[in-house]
Amino acid sequence: MSRLSSRMKVRLNPFLDKRDGILCLYCKGGYTATNPYIYEHLNNDDNDSRPENIIKAHQTCNCKKKYSEKMLAIALGKLKMNEASKLVCAGMKANTGTEKDVSSCVAINRKNKPITIQFLHEWTSRGEELLLKDAVDAITNQCYIQNGSGSQTAIYSYIDSLCNSYTGLFTIYSNPQGKNCIRRRTEN
Ligand SMILES: [Zn+2]
Repeated sequence: MSRLSSRMKVRLNPFLDKRDGILCLYCKGGYTATNPYIYEHLNNDDNDSRPENIIKAHQTCNCKKKYSEKMLAIALGKLKMNEASKLVCAGMKANTGTEKDVSSCVAINRKNKPITIQFLHEWTSRGEELLLKDAVDAITNQCYIQNGSGSQTAIYSYIDSLCNSYTGLFTIYSNPQGKNCIRRRTEN
């Protein structure tokens, strides 16, 4: 886990063009001098500079993404796709991760998943509408405050597993405004 240096960007550049093409992921437009690209982290975690988590996109689109649930969903979908692909960028660390990375991830999971469950339990018992997006933001912040580590991607995947249609404690539904919300699963 490290920040993206300019040396890494130079190495990544041809790999990204080959993997992703040369158009912006979000608007499918090309890059120009007045609307250039930047390197962005798909999961918004600047310390997660695995090649799978890096793409090129318009700076303008990158800014909009912060406020767009739809664009965030596109980004997380792309990250999943990159993680599943076997493409490896020459000279960069491969997808496997080191022992230490894996064990520290497990340790963080052990702490952050219960925080997610606790939060959903508390909020869904209040009987108020709980927007998925708000829940992800709030839980990510809480995990960050308590453990110094909270990634939106990880929180999304915890919530996803907790809302599993067979065994999940919770369920995701669409409110009248078409926004995704979470409620406790009821026995039928
Ligand atoms: Zn764009």
